[in-house]
Amino acid sequence: MHKVTLIKGDGIGPSIMDEAVKVIDASGAKIEWEEAYAGMSAFEKFETPLPDDTMISFDKTRVAFKGPLTTVVGTGFRSINVALRQKYELYANVRPAKSWEGVKTRYDDVDIVIVRENTEGLYSGLEHYLTSKKDIAESLAVVTRSGSQRVIEYAFKYARDNNRKKVTVCHKANILKYTQGIFLDVARETAARYPDIQFDEKIVDAACMHMVMNPQQFDVVVTTNMFGDILSDLTAGLVGGLGLIPGANIGDDAALFEAVHGSAPDITGKNLANPAAVIMAGVMMLNHLGEFDAAKRIKTAIEKVVNEGRYVTPDLNPQSKVGTKEMGDAIVGAMA
Ligand code: NAD
Repeated sequence: MHKVTLIKGDGIGPSIMDEAVKVIDASGAKIEWEEAYAGMSAFEKFETPLPDDTMISFDKTRVAFKGPLTTVVGTGFRSINVALRQKYELYANVRPAKSWEGVKTRYDDVDIVIVRENTEGLYSGLEHYLTSKKDIAESLAVVTRSGSQRVIEYAFKYARDNNRKKVTVCHKANILKYTQGIFLDVARETAARYPDIQFDEKIVDAACMHMVMNPQQFDVVVTTNMFGDILSDLTAGLVGGLGLIPGANIGDDAALFEAVHGSAPDITGKNLANPAAVIMAGVMMLNHLGEFDAAKRIKTAIEKVVNEGRYVTPDLNPQSKVGTKEMGDAIVGAMA
């Protein structure tokens, strides 16, 4: 039995996480869920967005399955997502985007894995006002050689282990010569140790244009924190949207699995949220836990449902009247 810390999260979180848990339980995987709280819902319940009990659970299980957490724009508490990634040193954020046969998009052959540095860069949390009038502010982007090394090494190893051919580093070292320069230097040094993997470097703005016009040239992409955050929404858009993209936050001795998307306040409570992204995150978690058969069963079922296009939420088929729960039921049904 694998113990997993389950955080349902905010907004659409509880509704999609209930479906994901239902699908994982039906797959035969041996999971014992330990429910914990974080984010806005935890704040409302316990007056803290990250209660001690949640950390105690994650300290013990070292594996978490998490719904999206709301972070208020501009004010309020610091992002709990960022805090968890930093505290547990979940340095590699792996976000795969692959075309689906049944989802109509501009391209039908996209297969890109973004590996985003997840603990430093511009999301280091070092931000402050310089004046009492709060009319000047600064943010510090911290990039370390060791932090760059571990995520870039992860990306190359991931490419090798998963039969991928190429790693592209996306950077902005032409302007940010020191911070981005360290990241690029480490990427070049690491590439030299992986002669079997093709290496490419692209300045991030040009990379965006290339990704939109010719996404087939990208395979594994490794990049710093904020660029990875942005590029992975771009790749989501190439394959059918945020309702389909899972993410794994990987450290040396802990891992957290979630969708790339957020708490989607615009569709909360409307039975419109697509549970596929968190269910695919569940597949990544099951593979991490060695539950390969259950992972394969769910992946096959979800591909069947999404590619058929009948029991899917309206983000995938605007004519559809199918809701979150019905799509979850269809995935469970497809496993039978
Ligand atoms: P969002 O990802 O929540 O939503 C962006 C758009 O995608 C919206 O139109 C939404 O309706 C749609 N969408 C998202 N998930 C969907 C799903 N499963 N099915 C169908 N449509 C879906 O981004 P946002 O609106 O910019 O952010 C809302 C909140 O989420 C913010 O507080 C933000 O900080 C937080 N957030 C959290 C995480 C996380 O917990 N990992 C990630 C991103 C954003």
